[in-house]
Amino acid sequence: MSFVTGDRTCRCGGRTVIRTTWKDANPGRRFQSCLNYENGSCDFFDWYDPPMCRRSKMIIPGLLRKMNEREAEIEMLKLKNEHLVKLDKKMKKMNEREAEIEKLKLKNEHLVKLVKKLKKIVCILVLLLVFIILSKFKVAKENPSGMNHVKMLQ
Ligand SMILES: [Zn+2]
Repeated sequence: MSFVTGDRTCRCGGRTVIRTTWKDANPGRRFQSCLNYENGSCDFFDWYDPPMCRRSKMIIPGLLRKMNEREAEIEMLKLKNEHLVKLDKKMKKMNEREAEIEKLKLKNEHLVKLVKKLKKIVCILVLLLVFIILSKFKVAKENPSGMNHVKMLQ
């Protein structure tokens, strides 16, 4: 039942209201009753609309059920939509993270290449150092007189 209007005073002193019933026997039919009717302290009740025809009584409940089903479907679709919006936000965040990971991978590859180059340079420097030490050692061995010459001068 739904409240429509009411501005008359009942014989008991209470206010009368016009409401609509949605029961299968009288779907959509308005009636007038006292506000005290529900608590049983007044018995004023009267139909506001004329009786409904048989066809209306047959068709309207089915239409109401379909309408309620559609409303329930709409509510379900709203919930699904909210869920999809949340999923979409999560996907966007995940894509941002993946893009950051790709950037870090590229930086990492660059650093790995730099480390390889540094290792090569260090190897070359070590080889050069070994070569220089060996060549000095060889010179000293081939020309031991240089030492004697110094001794003779003393
Ligand atoms: Zn009353």
